[in-house]
Amino acid sequence: MTFPPVPDRTIDGHVHLFTIGGVDKMLRIRQELGLERVNLLSIVEPAKGNGNSTVLAAKALHPEAFYAFGGLDHAAGTSTDPAQAISLKRQAMLLRQAGCDGMKMLETKPTLRQQRDVPIDSPYYHEYFAFVEEQQIPLVWHVADPEEFWNPKTTPWWAVKHNWGYGPSDVAKEKLYTEVSHVLNRQGDLKVIFPHMYFLSADLPRLERFLRTYPNVNIDLALGVELLFNLSKAPQQARDFFIQHQDRIVFGSDAQEILPLDQARIRFGLTNRFLQTDEAFSVPPEAEELLQTPGEIHGLGLPQDVLRKIYRDNFLRIVGGEPAKVDRQLALEECRRLGRQASRLSGLSLEQTEAGQCIQALEA
Ligand SMILES: [Zn+2]
Repeated sequence: MTFPPVPDRTIDGHVHLFTIGGVDKMLRIRQELGLERVNLLSIVEPAKGNGNSTVLAAKALHPEAFYAFGGLDHAAGTSTDPAQAISLKRQAMLLRQAGCDGMKMLETKPTLRQQRDVPIDSPYYHEYFAFVEEQQIPLVWHVADPEEFWNPKTTPWWAVKHNWGYGPSDVAKEKLYTEVSHVLNRQGDLKVIFPHMYFLSADLPRLERFLRTYPNVNIDLALGVELLFNLSKAPQQARDFFIQHQDRIVFGSDAQEILPLDQARIRFGLTNRFLQTDEAFSVPPEAEELLQTPGEIHGLGLPQDVLRKIYRDNFLRIVGGEPAKVDRQLALEECRRLGRQASRLSGLSLEQTEAGQCIQALEA
């Protein structure tokens, strides 16, 4: 199957780099897929020392290729040891100074809520949200998951395999939306991109109300393959939605460095064909398991000027033109901090942690 490429000068607003050792593979994806820049979203796992260290080191080494969004470190944010504790607000401030362009949040994905059951509208986060609002630091903020993940009968097999099947003991999708609305009501100027169409692609009228209620929020198109199928059920309604909200939709792939190149081509290609053509097509059988879904996708065949906004201009408007410059000294400090913490939590030596690898890459 041949797919249309991304348009010239596309920015991918949503990719993940988990190890600095994988940076060449990510650069290869960028080059082969013809992207101008990609936005590296940090996912902090304190015992590994990864996330902020990885995206900052990658961006310091390849400023022409990357934007970087940092993540919150809840080991430091909740540490009872005053020597180790750093408030969430201070973390956001330090990451900004070190050269992050924004913040990634994953706290409202149910699997993370299983690990730390702290509502996102709780006082723990107040000062942080007030700060990022005041500083107009953009967020890429993952909330909930596809509704079918809450019902064992409808959860896809690959979601079950990743432990993304939820039951009555898990946070409900609606509870997450309620908490988020509390945050947005309090901090009305927050600049947010909600990935995966805020997992409301099955209910466009509701998504439309959400976008109308909160004029500073945006959505991205990272798969979540369900969004292609949800939108394909009523292609004309979907097309109208995209035209109507053309300034609020950001292209993203959710690619990561372990994705083989031929799989990256399929992942990007599905979204490209959906946005750019009015063809009917299905997911090719050789696609990675996360994309495997039976049924037909109906392309939207969007006009050029709308495509340009989705593939580039909207990201630039929300995040800003040129990526922030990495302050190597501050980036190294964040790597050392995360590395020391990971050593303490995991028993590994500093060099064995991802942060240690990032220090080596930065000092080389
Ligand atoms: Zn993602």
